[in-house]
Amino acid sequence: MNVLFSAAEMTPFAKAGGLADVIGSLPKALRRIGVDARVVMPLHGFIQRGRYNIAYAFHYQFGRRRGVADIYVHHTESDGVPVYFLESYPFFGQGWQLYTDTEWDKQRFIAFSEFTLALAWQLAQREGWKLDVLHVHDWHTALGSFLVAYSRFDSFWQPVGTVLTIHNMGYQGDWAGAALFDAGIPTRTQPDLLYHGKDGNLLAIAIAYSDMITAVSPRYAEEIQYPRFGEGLEALVRWRAHGGDVMGILNGLDMERNDPATDPALLHPFSVQNLAPRPLNKTALQAQLGLPQRADVPFIGAVTRLTAQKGFDLAIPALYQLLAEDDVQVVVLGSGESHLEDGLRTLEYTYGNRMRAVIGYDAVLSQRIYAASDLFLMPSRYEPCGTSQMIAMRYGALPVVRETGGLADTVQNYDNKDADVGTGFVFLWETPEAVLGTLRWALETYRNRSEAFRRMQLRAMQTDFSWNKSAAEYVRVYERAFSRHRSG
Ligand code: ADP
Repeated sequence: MNVLFSAAEMTPFAKAGGLADVIGSLPKALRRIGVDARVVMPLHGFIQRGRYNIAYAFHYQFGRRRGVADIYVHHTESDGVPVYFLESYPFFGQGWQLYTDTEWDKQRFIAFSEFTLALAWQLAQREGWKLDVLHVHDWHTALGSFLVAYSRFDSFWQPVGTVLTIHNMGYQGDWAGAALFDAGIPTRTQPDLLYHGKDGNLLAIAIAYSDMITAVSPRYAEEIQYPRFGEGLEALVRWRAHGGDVMGILNGLDMERNDPATDPALLHPFSVQNLAPRPLNKTALQAQLGLPQRADVPFIGAVTRLTAQKGFDLAIPALYQLLAEDDVQVVVLGSGESHLEDGLRTLEYTYGNRMRAVIGYDAVLSQRIYAASDLFLMPSRYEPCGTSQMIAMRYGALPVVRETGGLADTVQNYDNKDADVGTGFVFLWETPEAVLGTLRWALETYRNRSEAFRRMQLRAMQTDFSWNKSAAEYVRVYERAFSRHRSG
């Protein structure tokens, strides 16, 4: 089966969040089980072509409503996965940002979706590679499903299945009606979209038109069918779910890139078999951050985007209280909304010998935090899947999380006894008190039930977060999407 992934980001070329990690690891896992998965993404201006052996491959033209676009295709292989980068002036090829102004991004990604279909056709002509399924991701590339549906009169597109994966319902590409109109794309014809007033919403269009829809965890696939997490599209999702077309498939983790035994970022590698060096990572990080070097002090880490989604408005007041009353060390690495960045800076200013707020993006430091922390804080208001908690568990840091989305699916709560089950500490309420109370409970366990804590740590590190199971589930989704147009 030939599957073309269409996405805005992919690790290691361009990453803003978990989406890039999925595109960087799922196609690789699919290829291992016999799917010919390939990726098409924009040639963002900042992508280092030399570093990744990205070479110019060919050029084609595509007739848009307003003139002809020239598209230059560049190519490389990433861990055996063929990746095509599209460059086309003025949309892609320049600029230092992954995402720009929202209006311009809508125009750019509408064009990208058109170019993607044209690329699929080019690949069939030039390389004899004919796609069976187009797999689009999030709002950026979502329009592809609609464009395929509208091209089915053509024998090339008639049998092609489409799959949409929703990585985050919080970003939809809404109010794209004018840009779609400008591009000459007639989405106004779909009655359900019209009924819900979503005919200009790129993600909604894909929910209506994709053969199959997946969300990145089973819990999130449920949550988005209701108003709290559906972000206005819940009725559309529920309609598709009633037809049996919505599935939750948990993201896997790239177990090779995230391995504490081989991670080049770590000064003291360790594994389940050889856990002894793990505390050295704590003292090394304390030294790096200028905190007192003490192996005995409980160390709480967080690595996060600082947006409302991630719940740090709840965590900051909880940390104030905790740092005032308890002997702990805390480090938060993150960037985002300025009021949260400032809140964390003030926290560091107040508790300078116990708290560090590192504002920015630092891939090496993030891995060191996972390896050094006893507890990993992730109080997300919503979390489609979440990668950080899985990395934390693999590195032996027990997550303290809110019970939502993928956090609910991946973190097993402590049983409050000998830890015969459990890989972390889970709370439900979206309040600072819940964060504080759960941190206290986790710290109490760390100090007074160290044997139970150790058992959880080992269980967390041994949990299989690989793509094996999920990749097989995606194959079943592809088969369903694909068979839909074969049988008819
Ligand atoms: P999201 O995709 O919503 O940001 P995830 O938990 O799925 O959340 O993925 C976050 C990924 O980005 C993790 O690999 C995490 O380590 C990384 N990350 C987030 N913020 C930072 C940061 N400030 N510095 C380094 N890595 C970060």
